Amino acid sequence: MATTHSGNFGTCCKDLADAMSVPPEKFFRVEDNGVLYFTIGYVPTDKGPGFYDQAVIFCPFCGKQLQTKEQIQAAADAQ
Ligand SMILES: [Zn+2]
Repeated sequence: MATTHSGNFGTCCKDLADAMSVPPEKFFRVEDNGVLYFTIGYVPTDKGPGFYDQAVIFCPFCGKQLQTKEQIQAAADAQ
């Protein structure tokens, strides 16, 4: 079983830390359930843009595993 990077999201490498802190509008987002999501796109609607989010499994910059599908499912079930 692969080891998951421990510590807060953004502590695995500087690139993810910057991606989560530098841009005023970020595509990475930590939900109240503690899951890290990435915005993959949006669709214009009458009420403004509707965003498509996908939970992040691996850091796209350094490749470390940040969370597991089991953790994400458990967090979603707990809501
Ligand atoms: Zn990383």
